[in-house]
Amino acid sequence: MTSGKKRRVVVDEGECSGCGKCEDMCPHDAIHVIDEVAVIDYDHCDALGGCIKTCPQDAISWNK
Ligand code: SF4
Repeated sequence: MTSGKKRRVVVDEGECSGCGKCEDMCPHDAIHVIDEVAVIDYDHCDALGGCIKTCPQDAISWNK
């Protein structure tokens, strides 16, 4: 990254089905489905991005 902005994964709450696949795959235990929406715990997220590929709804993406 050339800017000082930290790369983050973000969840589109409107697209998330609450399936839990991202929660299951995250090696840092940084995603939890709460009230049927995936919530990223940025204190634990290491921005690996595996959840982006795992999500069947394309609900997770990099921040812009
Ligand atoms: S994998 Fe996608 S649809 Fe499933 S809980 Fe995670 S963000 Fe939501």
